[in-house]
Amino acid sequence: MVNRAPHVAVVGGGWAGLAAAVAACQRGWRVTLLEASPHWGGRARRVPSRIGPLDNGQHILIGAYHATLTLLATLGVPLTQALQRVPMALTYPDGGGLRVPGWTSTLPRVAHAVGLGAALLVARGWTWRDQRAALARLARWQLAGWRCAPTATVAELCAGLPRRVVADWIEPLAVAALNTPLQQASGAVWLRVLDDALHGPAPAPYAPSDLLLPRADLGTLLPDAATRWLAERGATLRLRARVTRLQAVTPAASPSDGGNPGTPAWHLAVAHGTPVQADAVVLATPAWASTQLLQALAADPDCPAGLARRGVAWADRARALQHIPIATVWLAPPPGWAWRWPTPMLALRHHPQQAPAQFVFARAADHPAAGLRLAAVVSAPDPAWHGRAADLAAAVQRQVQQALALPDTQVLATVVEQRATFACTPGLARPWAMLGPTLVAAGDHVEGPYPATLEGAVRSGLHAVDALGAALTPGFWPRP
Ligand SMILES: Cc1cc2nc3c(=O)[nH]c(=O)nc-3n(C[C@H](O)[C@H](O)[C@H](O)COP(=O)(O)OP(=O)(O)OC[C@H]3O[C@@H](n4cnc5c(N)ncnc54)[C@H](O)[C@@H]3O)c2cc1C
Repeated sequence: MVNRAPHVAVVGGGWAGLAAAVAACQRGWRVTLLEASPHWGGRARRVPSRIGPLDNGQHILIGAYHATLTLLATLGVPLTQALQRVPMALTYPDGGGLRVPGWTSTLPRVAHAVGLGAALLVARGWTWRDQRAALARLARWQLAGWRCAPTATVAELCAGLPRRVVADWIEPLAVAALNTPLQQASGAVWLRVLDDALHGPAPAPYAPSDLLLPRADLGTLLPDAATRWLAERGATLRLRARVTRLQAVTPAASPSDGGNPGTPAWHLAVAHGTPVQADAVVLATPAWASTQLLQALAADPDCPAGLARRGVAWADRARALQHIPIATVWLAPPPGWAWRWPTPMLALRHHPQQAPAQFVFARAADHPAAGLRLAAVVSAPDPAWHGRAADLAAAVQRQVQQALALPDTQVLATVVEQRATFACTPGLARPWAMLGPTLVAAGDHVEGPYPATLEGAVRSGLHAVDALGAALTPGFWPRP
């Protein structure tokens, strides 16, 4: 029997595309997932190295990543094995900084701010004045309903706070969540993330503020599980399949439709590969790639005028996004050296040139004999490092050795993602999801409550499929 279920092409195999493909499959639609590169996962992926698989960048999830954690559970990923749960902590190698006391994770969700309050009270190296100022600001934000003027930056929200409070609390959290310098970062998004981390829904057994660190590489965490799940359900999965052109195939006007042309279907050209015909498209490519595809679509004389206009307007918005790099330097400590801190993540005292990394993570290797690896993260590196990855790695190596009192380390790999995230600035107008009834954009850049994060990407993928649901109703099929 011919399968009359709608056929959806998902373009882009990052976390947004994978989430969309899974959601489309759950609705019983036929799915083709097309990924340009030789690997799944996009900006959160496994990279091969001479010492075994590494990640392109250390990723932190939090308990409030409800959509991501639910997706992983749906795919059968054993969450407690796959993710190391660490109560929210922002401590430095010297023991300074904040740690949410473990007992607060047993508090009901509404009382979670108590945990952060307790962390602020026990922050080592803080004076009574620092603690009072931090607690008063937290209370002020809570009273304001975690809202502020859309034009405010994080630096403006924190005006008047003691320097130590900004350095130990605000800056590391804002850098980790928004990857944007405080003077440019959106205060409204920062408060939303903080609110979510304190009060957001978190699937059991997590508290929303828990830090969840992948134990294995990122490919194992989502892409392997998702592609296995999709293949078992008959989805077509194509790597090295770069979509070069989207073409709207509009059915001729029919008298029964009052002379209006029907909903467009799609023809997708694939570089060096078989083209794809689909009833609907989820465009889960990064902002810059979607921009190119939509501009070409709009320039096609056969593209319906309304769709062309929306495509051009979408591309204008997407082009206005500025992107910020993240560099990750992987280091191997000498054999026998042991990590002696209670949490696997440490914040680092940093300086844009001399000590550029903000965080260092301890990661166990795949097999015990390979020992420990350290991932040092440089969020938004100073532009002076541009094109100087080896010098950056050497500076990070010196910084980490000094901060952790390490006699020696070996640089295993340096990965610089030039367009890791978009700059999350105040009042940013992000491109929207719906381009037409059968064409929807997804990705961390698409309008949504979250900054450029895994959760933002996953939510947008799920939302894209929900949005297509209206067009792909059962009555829509079979196409006349
Ligand atoms: C170093 C680093 C550290 C990060 N740390 C964190 C963190 O700690 N926590 C967190 O939540 N987030 C973090 N992020 C952000 C997170 O990785 C991204 O927000 C998320 O992965 C974006 O997913 P996406 O699916 O929207 O886009 P992408 O991952 O960019 O996926 C898009 C995919 O489309 C493919 N593609 C492009 N053009 C085409 C085409 N024409 N045809 C077919 N396929 C195409 C690309 O190859 C890519 O695989 C980090 C990112 C980086 C780079």
